[in-house]
Parts: sequence; C-alpha cells; structure tokens
Amino acid sequence: MAYVDEVIDLVVMQNPGELEFHQAVREVFGSLKPVVEQNEEQFRRDALLERIVNPERQLKFRVPWVDDNGQAHVNTGYRIQFNSAIGPYKGGIRLHPSVNSGIVKFLGFEQIFKNSLTGLPIGGGKGGSDFDPKGKSDREVMSFCQSFMTELCKHIGADTDVPAGDIGTGAREIGYMFGQYKRIRGLYEGVLTGKGLSYGGSLARTEATGYGVLYLTEEMLKKNGKDINGMTVVVSGSGNVAIYAIQKAHQLGAKAVTASDSTGWIFDPDGIDISVLKEIKEIKRQRLTEYKKHRPNSEYHEGRGVWTVKCDIALPCATQNELFLEDAEALVSNGCIAVAEGANMPTTADATEYFLQHGVLFAPGKAANAGGVATSALEMTQNSERLSWSFEEVDSKLQTIMVNIFHNIDDAARRYGLENNYVAGANIAGFEKIVDAMNAQGI
Ligand code: GLU
Repeated sequence: MAYVDEVIDLVVMQNPGELEFHQAVREVFGSLKPVVEQNEEQFRRDALLERIVNPERQLKFRVPWVDDNGQAHVNTGYRIQFNSAIGPYKGGIRLHPSVNSGIVKFLGFEQIFKNSLTGLPIGGGKGGSDFDPKGKSDREVMSFCQSFMTELCKHIGADTDVPAGDIGTGAREIGYMFGQYKRIRGLYEGVLTGKGLSYGGSLARTEATGYGVLYLTEEMLKKNGKDINGMTVVVSGSGNVAIYAIQKAHQLGAKAVTASDSTGWIFDPDGIDISVLKEIKEIKRQRLTEYKKHRPNSEYHEGRGVWTVKCDIALPCATQNELFLEDAEALVSNGCIAVAEGANMPTTADATEYFLQHGVLFAPGKAANAGGVATSALEMTQNSERLSWSFEEVDSKLQTIMVNIFHNIDDAARRYGLENNYVAGANIAGFEKIVDAMNAQGI
C-alpha cells in the first residue's frame, strides 16, 4: 500500500467521526502522491506524513459566560496549534454553533498549507467555539470573549501563536479578546490580528481576504488569456470575505450579482450595492431580506440557489461544503469558466473533480483566500516595527503576494505535468516548503 494511503487510513482510524478533517487530509494527500512517491523511503522512515497530520498541541476548554438575564451558560473553546515549522501558529477563531474538534482540526490542517503558500513566516493553527454570536447583545458577546480569552491567553503570544478572525469573529470580538489578553497578561503586543486601527490594526486587513480572492482570480484568468473586465460573478456568503470580494470584482470591471446568508440569497441584476450590503450585514446585523427594501429591482429567495445563476465566475465565500456536485453541473452548463474559493473547503470533493474534468479554472481556498492571513502577517510586521503602513502600501503588498501565490502554484502543477490543476499545485507548493522546514529542524 502506498505510504500516502496508509496515513489517510490512519487519520480516519485515529480521528473517528471527524469527517471534515478526513476530507481535507484526503484532498491534500491525494494530490501529493507524485511528490511523496519520489521520496517514499525517506518520508516513511521519518514518519513525515504522520507528523504532519498530528497537531503539535490541541487545547479544549470550558467557556462559562453570563447572559443579560443573569443566566450562566457554558460553551466549549478550542485552539489547535498544528504546525510551527515555518513560524508561530497563525489562524483564525471561528465562533459558530457547528464548531467542534473535527472542524477546528480540518481548518488548522488547511491553514498549515495556506500559510506556507503566502511565503511569509507563519505556521498553522486554528481555534473556535460553538458559541453563536448571532442574536446576542454586545454585552453577552463581551462576556463570552473575555471568558474565552481568560483561558486562551495562557497559551498564545506574539511570537508563539497569533489568532485572528474567522466566521463569527470580527472586529468587535477581536477587540474584546485583545482587551482581556492585555488585562491579564499585561502585555501590549501583537497577539491578535484583525485589530481595530486605533490599537494596532492594519489598514486593508478587513478587505484583504476578499480583495485577495479577486487579485488571484484576475491573474489566473490573465494567464489563461482571459480578462475579468465585463464578466458576471456569482458570490455566496455575505460576511467579510463576500463583501470585499464583491467590491473588488466591481473595481476590476466585473459585475457581482448575488450574495447569500444562512436562510436565503439575493440576486441584483444591476450588481450588488456594496454600501447597502455593508449596512445590513456589518452595521445592523440584519438578514438579507432587508436588501430588497433598498434595491427594488433585486430578488430575494429563501434557501440555497446562488449556483443556478448564470455567470462566468463563481466565488463560494460562505463556509465549508456549500457547493455540491449538482451545483458544479449547473454552473458548468451555464457557462462558468472559473471558480475561486473565498471560504475554506466550500467545494465538495466530487464537485471539485467535476470542475477540473470540465476545464474550469479552479483556485482552491488555501491559495485563493490566503490574502487574509497574509495581511495578518503584514499586521504582525507592523506591530513589531511599531509602525503603520498606508492602505496603498498594504494593498500593493497583498496584490504582489496573491500574484506570486498564483505563479507558485501554477509552476508546481507544471513541474508534475498537471498543467492547470491548481488544486494539486497549491498542495504541492505548500507541502514542499513545510517539508523543507521540518527536515531542516530534525525530528
Ligand atoms: N480566518 C482566516 C483564514 O481562514 C484568517 C486567519 C488569520 O488572519 O490568521 O485564513
């Protein structure tokens, strides 16, 4: 049996029920086969793949907090410090009822490869809790965040592990967590990224993930002789990633016509109005049903459905496993030529395969959405320097990073005769650097 398959079986056996983690390991290792085959003996002797799939450290902790009626609740907190070969652990904190150890593990595993692709010195980590900020008051969110950080602060630091935002964790949550870290540890340091501008945040960090998705998509299209200008874009999600992906799509001359949330989706034939979307989602924290009140020409639909809209480019920016095989079939039959994942693992394995087989240019999340964490690393740099760069400076560095990531994954795919398979290219390019660093540092 091939070494890669042995380790996949081991992962399934040793991590029962953690389906998303199995899925992520299968996806990554599946495309590493040609690389591993060349060094099978050495990798096996060094238990290299076993070391990569086993987190260096996993924390699970109790998070008690009190609601506005004085009732106490208990949630579970997680932080996984997966791999520090390249740099301090780096990765977001997801606050969503679906969070469990398997979800955090899959996200942490993906983060190792994504962070490697950025070319910056950051290792892979992830955290979260099954706490749901939706519908909670600011006070309740503060109570939760303070309690979460009361435990987490013992395990993180600017040079060891630097968390950030993810689904459910935005500027408000990062602010409350940062305040608690400082209160307890007494350190004013860049221990979190995605901070507010008044206390050490970076300009363009908010926009970075969504902008980065478009910078990479633009480069991928350019390389394949196509121009994004004039194209129609379908986007899922309405959080931070989706909002700024839509904005950058418009700036590049494309038209983004959809957005979605957990209950429904909107179609705006004139292009999504970003200021309306921001007002509804970021300021008022309302549902997308509100959008039509401001844009009478638009449509609101309950349930899923964005992937049935005719487009040139699809950008899944909501969450894992949100784009299935039937969606891929619908997109291809409607003429979609490119997909870039703004979310982490939004496309199921069979849907990804379908895209690749039908010649769709497919940029996997670990490359396409790496602009967020890359800009987090730029925030860390600014914190170390005690300087703040201009928006233009950060944005132009982000653009360079995304263009480099694209060429890096394109080259890696070519080296293994897998032209235009950016899934394989991203996994291979990310893996090569990790292996190099791990080998250099010994077992
Ligand atoms: N949560 C984001 C991601 O999935 C950003 C992580 C960070 O900035 O550390 O990459």
